[in-house]
Amino acid sequence: MGKIAFVLDAGHMGGYNTGAMYPYSEGTYMWYLQEDFTKFLSEYENVDVIQTKEKLEDRPEVFKRGQVAAKLIGYDYTVFLSFHTNAYNGRAHGTSIFRSLFLPDSKELGKMIGEGIVNLLNPVTGVTYLRGVETRKSSQGDYDYYGVIRGSMSERNNPLYSPVKYSYMIEHAFHDNPDECKFLVVRENITKIAEVEVSIIAGYLGLKKKIQTPVEEEKPTESTDIPDVGYNEERYKQFKAGDLVMVTADTYFNSTKKVPQRVKDQLWYVYKTPTNNRVVINENQAHTESIMSPVDANDLELVNVESAEKPDAELVEEQPVENVSETVPEIADTVKETQKKTETPAAVDDCFIVKLLKSIFGVK
Ligand SMILES: [Zn+2]
Repeated sequence: MGKIAFVLDAGHMGGYNTGAMYPYSEGTYMWYLQEDFTKFLSEYENVDVIQTKEKLEDRPEVFKRGQVAAKLIGYDYTVFLSFHTNAYNGRAHGTSIFRSLFLPDSKELGKMIGEGIVNLLNPVTGVTYLRGVETRKSSQGDYDYYGVIRGSMSERNNPLYSPVKYSYMIEHAFHDNPDECKFLVVRENITKIAEVEVSIIAGYLGLKKKIQTPVEEEKPTESTDIPDVGYNEERYKQFKAGDLVMVTADTYFNSTKKVPQRVKDQLWYVYKTPTNNRVVINENQAHTESIMSPVDANDLELVNVESAEKPDAELVEEQPVENVSETVPEIADTVKETQKKTETPAAVDDCFIVKLLKSIFGVK
């Protein structure tokens, strides 16, 4: 099987066609949709994704947008999608899919995409329905009425170019009514639309997901967490009570229990000076959480307090009286000790910068 090209067209330009709810604009949010769509689609094999616009503020002519899809070479076929939201009188609702006159076989997929959008939006909006999956003919002749679709079909009789098999302009909903705009204006909902559309299209076209590297999925044992540098049996000696650390582990010590992202995203204090590689971390840096969790020392990184954000150092110094607990002196010690470690790269850099500044300003 050869490759399939997807040409994605984010309608209009950034900020264009503002919606009933701030800060929605068709131009900007359909750009987001195109970005998310690209991301989801890149999970599939044998697919190239091409955009009609390089930047949000670009505003190519509609026919030329479609032409991007028409003039591709070397693909099994091309799918062209132009992303829009609609406007009428502030009271109209629903999803419209427009497809090319010249692609009678594209009706079924168009209908599936439309129904997918409605199924996603309607539970929230209460008003979204499928208005239609339609072709629209130009009054000037045997052409598609809409410029983007017309452009996408402009080389349909030229065997030099890869055939465009599907060409849709998707009017997801009406942004000029608050019921539908309240869905569209939520950034995460745009991601959901992209996810639904990609999964429907991928399923219909029989696309296969790229094979994931099995490292994370299989064997959720301690050994998968061993870093490339090799397991260090004495790594625990680097840590003591009160040290601020970052967790790089996927699972807890000798356990298949997953370390949640929330834990990875924060810094934690070592609870007790460890005597082996089982290091217990407890409080987070902000002192708002206690998790008392064992982590392998090989899955911890000591965080240089000097290079951490300034407020932390201030927080230690200005620790109010009511917070005097056994952890406070430990933390204070940590700050001093870490500052002493001049061999750490951050500290070396600081010295270098100080020297540099002194040399610039002539201070000896
Ligand atoms: Zn539009």
